[in-house]
Amino acid sequence: MPDKRARKSAKKPAAKKTAKKPAKKPAARKPRAPRKRMLDPNDPHFIPGIFNYCDRWCERCEFSHRCHNFAENELYFGEDPEARDVTNPKFQKTLKRIYADAQKILDAALAKATTVPDPNAIEAAAAHEKHVERRARAIGQKETKLAITYAHMVDEWFNNELRLPLEHVQDLERRVETGEVSVATAKGDLVRLNDCVEVIRWYQHFIFVKLGRAFSSLVEEQERPEIAHEKDSDGTAKVALISMDRSIEAWSALSEMFPQKADSILEIQVVLSRLRTSLSAKFPEARKFIRPGFDEPR
Ligand code: SF4
Repeated sequence: MPDKRARKSAKKPAAKKTAKKPAKKPAARKPRAPRKRMLDPNDPHFIPGIFNYCDRWCERCEFSHRCHNFAENELYFGEDPEARDVTNPKFQKTLKRIYADAQKILDAALAKATTVPDPNAIEAAAAHEKHVERRARAIGQKETKLAITYAHMVDEWFNNELRLPLEHVQDLERRVETGEVSVATAKGDLVRLNDCVEVIRWYQHFIFVKLGRAFSSLVEEQERPEIAHEKDSDGTAKVALISMDRSIEAWSALSEMFPQKADSILEIQVVLSRLRTSLSAKFPEARKFIRPGFDEPR
């Protein structure tokens, strides 16, 4: 019988255990600050000047991906809804950044300028601006008055008829329950109602703003033949006309939804139609204006 020591030594040497090192935890990443990339407005990806003749409704714009303005806003405000909320401090912070950047651009331009701005020229420019404003107000008096009346009528209508959409929704709910209408139809109706209200509200004051610019540009073009060919007045008037087309359409859809309110809606549509006719008469070429992107072949 082999002795104990001999048996022990016959055992294979135990394989050296390699102690497993605990896996290194990846270091917690710091939230990345939005990258500040400079956008080149001359990048051919962007459609030059598209934002000059749009309705500023970026959420619904089919060209937002080709718009330098949009890209720049995204860069500043990102996707954080708080940064876009005017009552939030984040918004104020972003605004300060925008002003600071604008100041830098201005300073750089001033540094490049070879001549010192002449105070008399500045005064003359301010006086000219006032003169243009006065003339524009005189030429567009009728239309701007109508636009203001329209905006007030819209407010009044919605203030008086606030309960309408609510009743409509309740009625739809009841009809879905009784099987009178399908869920899909009810949803479609709600989307349509929401869309009409959004369209009307979006253009309610926008029309007035666009009229102001259209008439100012008209005066400038009449007084400065060198810029007359740009026809900014026609382009701007076209945007106002399209806004009116869409608003009138939205009112018609509302009238179909609420036939009991057809009369009050008609009154509003009459004001808007008068404004549209009057503006078309003053800018007879406006509809022919080719807006960059929107009216160009795709
Ligand atoms: S062109 Fe479109 S994305 Fe650009 S500012 Fe106008 S609505 Fe917004």
